[in-house]
Amino acid sequence: MSTVNRLNKTQVKAAVRKAIEHSADELIKLARDVYEHPEPGFTEERTAQVVAKALTAAGVNPETGIAITGMKGVRDFGGDGPTVGIIGELDAVKAPGHPAADMTSGAAHACGHHSQLGAMVGAAIGLGIPEVAESLSGRAAFIATPAEEFIDVEMRWGLREAGHLGFLSGKQEMIRLGTFDDVDMAMMIHTSSSKAQRRFIVGGTSNAHVVHYVRFLGKAAHAGGAPHQGVNALQAAMLALSSINTQRETFEAENQTRVHGIITRGGVATNAVPAEVVYEGRVRGRTMEAVDKVSARIEDCYRAGALAMGADLEIVAIPGYLPLENNPDMARVFSANVTAEFGADSLMVQADDVNAGGSTDMGDLSQIMPALHPYVAAADGAGHGIDYVIADYRRAVVDSAVSMALTVVDLLSDGASEARGIIDFHEPALTRQSYVDSQTTRLRKISYHGE
Ligand SMILES: [Zn+2]
Ligand SMILES: [Zn+2]
Repeated sequence: MSTVNRLNKTQVKAAVRKAIEHSADELIKLARDVYEHPEPGFTEERTAQVVAKALTAAGVNPETGIAITGMKGVRDFGGDGPTVGIIGELDAVKAPGHPAADMTSGAAHACGHHSQLGAMVGAAIGLGIPEVAESLSGRAAFIATPAEEFIDVEMRWGLREAGHLGFLSGKQEMIRLGTFDDVDMAMMIHTSSSKAQRRFIVGGTSNAHVVHYVRFLGKAAHAGGAPHQGVNALQAAMLALSSINTQRETFEAENQTRVHGIITRGGVATNAVPAEVVYEGRVRGRTMEAVDKVSARIEDCYRAGALAMGADLEIVAIPGYLPLENNPDMARVFSANVTAEFGADSLMVQADDVNAGGSTDMGDLSQIMPALHPYVAAADGAGHGIDYVIADYRRAVVDSAVSMALTVVDLLSDGASEARGIIDFHEPALTRQSYVDSQTTRLRKISYHGE
């Protein structure tokens, strides 16, 4: 084998960086384009088209339509090294009133996912130059995942009932479908508006959660003429919410418990006793055990409301996300690249148990394979709020692309010895199959007849 023109790792990294820098403007343009056309989970049709086109232009022809709007494109470097997944999330959250909100759906990129897509495509471009392939062993999989924000529960439940989905988030469903079966480790970078003054943040964890799709069912009657003939489902729901609030003093601080939700249907006519009220809720906690314990009590609170009013109740308890576990060795490789590229003061390292209270389906993936979910401090405003915007697109898109691509170079160089070592040492909490089985059995439908 000739090694005359083979680049050393420093030269490979320089070539990768140069290719990404060369595409910086188009990567930021892609992110801004997605920002201007926000789509909520499992409806990211236009977003998917834009991303698929960009990946194809980068030489990675993705398989599309996975988990409705998701996609996966693989670059094979040759050799028998493992596959590193680079992930970008497709979906917007809902934030009506956000400057770039969709007028109809209220969707807005108030979580910064659009910039992840620019970063993922940038990594594909950087890792696409021929000199890179000669130096690496294994594959990089570029995976755009739908529906990370666990919203629109009724719509998603309908997709499930119609047979279009098994699990209700993008990564969950892609795990179920086998999209990650040939992926050995995975990473992505999420934006943050943390004022930490550091460019990247590694470490920390996230909450587990369960999702409640709850219907209070009463009986309609004339609200002025014959309210005694009705059963008021809205009053049942209000009592349930009051009951939930009485429980908050029992939440244990170390569990980082969060209980919250919205009423998505509160009745259909002011002059009729509301016969159906729909509540979408969430119970979060540091561990699944902590979630299950609180969730059981919250289910009793729904029953309390139904009992008082003589209403019927249907609860669907849908398995949400598992806690995020960042792989320390992936964090080490990533961190070394960040500090080498951007300086020692560009990185903030969080303790493993730092938990802001939110949740991500990257947590699910991290339970079945080595995974990394750092943050890039490139946004301003409150996450999911109307003022959350990317303040520094270069940092969010280009610096993230460079950091991920250079991490892949380290993982897959020298016969992929770094990646192989990480995989050998890692003991996943769950296998893909045990994950799918447990998520399947944890889904529960509960009916209650209050009288
Ligand atoms: Zn979010
Ligand atoms: Zn997000």
